[in-house]
Amino acid sequence: MKKSVTIHGLKFMLLVSSGKIQDAVSRIAKKIDRDFKDRNPLFIAVLNGSFLFAADLLRKIKIECGISFIKVSSYSGTRSSGKVNTLIGVNENLLKRPVIILEDIVDSGNTLEAVLAEIKKHNPDEISVATLFFKPEVYQKKNALNYIGIKVPDKFLVGYGLDYDGSGRNLSDIYALES
Ligand code: 5GP
Ligand code: MG
Repeated sequence: MKKSVTIHGLKFMLLVSSGKIQDAVSRIAKKIDRDFKDRNPLFIAVLNGSFLFAADLLRKIKIECGISFIKVSSYSGTRSSGKVNTLIGVNENLLKRPVIILEDIVDSGNTLEAVLAEIKKHNPDEISVATLFFKPEVYQKKNALNYIGIKVPDKFLVGYGLDYDGSGRNLSDIYALES
C-alpha cells in the first residue's frame, strides 16, 4: 500500500490499513450476528460514503437480514457544512422491524441526527447505529453509537468510501490530510 496519496493537489498520509479496516468490520459483524439472531434486522446504509463498509459488512453477516439505502449530503470540500439534505429517503416498510444504520464516519453527528429523525418517521421497532469510523473529539450529539469500528483523530480522511471532492472513494486504505 502507498504511504501517501495526492488528490486534487492535496497530500494525504496513510492512517489505517485495509487489514485493520477488515478486522474492524469483522468485529462489528460478529457482534451484530450475536445481538440480532432471529430478529431479521434491516440495515440502512447512508450513501454515498458507506457503500464499501455496507458491502464488506453484509458479506460477513451470517444471520437473516435485509439492506436498503438512504442518501444524504452534508460535506462540501473538507469541512462539514452543518446543513443536511435528504436526497433519497426510506421506501421500505420499517414498521416493527429492527433497523441498523450503517455510517462510514461520525464526525459532528449532524448527519446521523438527521438520518435518525428521517428513519424514526417510519416507526421501526428499534434503531441501532454502526459506524466504521468515529471522531470522538468533535462529536457534539447524545445519540448512542452502538457499534464503533475505529476511533480516529479530528483530521479529514479519504479512502474506503470517503471522498475528497468526488475522488478517493476507491482506495482500500484510509489516508488523512496532512496538517
Ligand atoms: P457529520 O454530520 O457527523 O459532521 O459528518 C458525517 C458525514 O460527513 C459522514 O457521513 C461523511 O459522509 C462525512 N465526513 C465526516 N468526516 C469526514 C472525513 O474525514 N472525510 C470525508 N471524506 N467525509 C467525512
Ligand atoms: Mg456518511
